[in-house]
Amino acid sequence: MPVDVMPARETRKHILLVDDDRGFLEVTQIILRREGYDVATAPTGREALDSAGEKDFNAVVLDISLPDADGTELLSRLLEKSPALVPIMLTGRSSVRNAIDSLNHGAFAYLEKPVEPRHLLSVIKQGLEKQRLIVERGRLLEELERSNRETRLLLRVSRAVARSLNPERIIAAALDALQPDMGEYAIHVNLAGDNYLKLAGQYGLSDMVKTALNAVPVEAGVAGAVFRNGLSIEAAPGSEDGEIPPALAGEGYRCYAVVPLTAGGERLGVMGFASRLPVLPRTLDTLAAVAHELSIAIRNSQLYEEASSARALRELDAMRSKLLANVSHQLRAPLAVIKGYASSLLQTDVTFDIKTLQEFLVAIDQEADRLARLIDEMLLMCRIEKGALELRRDYYAVRTVVESVTEPLANLTLRHRLCVDIAPGLAPVYVDIKRIGEALVNLVENAAKYSPEGTDICLAAGQDADRVVFTVSDQGCGIPPECREKVFERFYRVPDPAVQARPGTGLGLSICRGIVRAHGGEISVRGQPGGGSEFSFFLPRGEQRSREAAWTG
Ligand code: ADP
Repeated sequence: MPVDVMPARETRKHILLVDDDRGFLEVTQIILRREGYDVATAPTGREALDSAGEKDFNAVVLDISLPDADGTELLSRLLEKSPALVPIMLTGRSSVRNAIDSLNHGAFAYLEKPVEPRHLLSVIKQGLEKQRLIVERGRLLEELERSNRETRLLLRVSRAVARSLNPERIIAAALDALQPDMGEYAIHVNLAGDNYLKLAGQYGLSDMVKTALNAVPVEAGVAGAVFRNGLSIEAAPGSEDGEIPPALAGEGYRCYAVVPLTAGGERLGVMGFASRLPVLPRTLDTLAAVAHELSIAIRNSQLYEEASSARALRELDAMRSKLLANVSHQLRAPLAVIKGYASSLLQTDVTFDIKTLQEFLVAIDQEADRLARLIDEMLLMCRIEKGALELRRDYYAVRTVVESVTEPLANLTLRHRLCVDIAPGLAPVYVDIKRIGEALVNLVENAAKYSPEGTDICLAAGQDADRVVFTVSDQGCGIPPECREKVFERFYRVPDPAVQARPGTGLGLSICRGIVRAHGGEISVRGQPGGGSEFSFFLPRGEQRSREAAWTG
């Protein structure tokens, strides 16, 4: 069996010899073939152009003076057809002008006839080497350009995903960053849920495909396999690696790559790229690098969330302990008083006069009331927080509301000067009078509790365009600006020893806020110019359904 000594077909170089000297053509063809070149010959310019039309030549050896064509013109036309061609010009006469002319027209070299075959061979080799270097340089430039593009893309993605700690926003930012480069492709991101990979972001997908990819089973399909095995897959119709999901194939997608989203050994989900062309928008490596950037950002956000919720849990735990300590202290104080007086009364060896007996029983009665109120407050707070506060609302004149609590207000301000100032002609309010009364009592009770004896406490009512406003102001210790929002949180008490020394649970104002909000209103506090606080709550004006209420208000 003859051994094929010729180079492999792809690496064989094709050479076109153009000369009207048929003897020269024959000899040179033999020499070049022996060197492994594929050689075609053309004795005329026309035949040379025909051959160049049929095949891509690497080099042409061209006689400058052909009977039917001007050598330099023919050279230009050949170069038009294949710009990478290496042209070597031949001439019978030494002519500097011809040489310069042909070199100016793109010739690689200029040889004088008769040509020494070995010289011709060496020039051809040099020309082809130069051509190889040019091609290689082009390839390297292209490669550099490509990797620049990939680096820019990755940089854009990594900058975009670093801007947030919210997984949804991170995914949206990554997709936004990809769009300018890969907008003509469809991309989806599915994150791991219970047995499913749930669609967490996409672009370019139709509603039908979105529905199909909304919850991809972990156990099935290309995406499932990538998630389970942590290896990228490039799927194409009939490919052994995996089939394109029917929903995508049905819409003309011909190429589908899925890369895993993993970070720190955690499997987070998958990222899919679908293309209607038979090739991917980028190499699988680049897609995996994009997915890697995204994975790190998602994992960081998860870790941050976990750390935050652990911190929140710790805070909640601390709050709960504080609350328990506070509540048990509050419950214990009246119980201790009741127990003390009751034990004294039970002593058989002591006799008390009627006055002392009376004092003991009053103390027991008051402390029992305090205890009952505390328990009521806690139960009420629970109802408010569950959204289960029932309101028995009706239309009332503002004055009627205030008068419904005259007695408790008077009792609470025995050691203060209470002034009540209700503006005339106020609109009625549509309220549960008992609850709003409780809120007013609470605010006045606080005013008395946190103000020195003998100071003024003012309860006023007025209105603006669409709200009725109740205000309770005092000349007490006031509330530092940074605590003014917090005092409405349950169990919050201003961390001031003077405040902490007063009895209190920190529930009163949060109950007030719950009641006011249940009426569609809002409550706030501000400082008074000369010290002291001013609490205001606003209620929507009731419709003018009750004329009588409006008049008496
Ligand atoms: P309590 O009075 O039982 O502590 P509240 O919820 O009624 O609970 O009030 C919460 C906190 O707001 C109080 O502990 C106190 O620090 C502050 N506060 C409330 N009302 C006043 C007021 N009129 N003047 C100064 N501080 C007040």
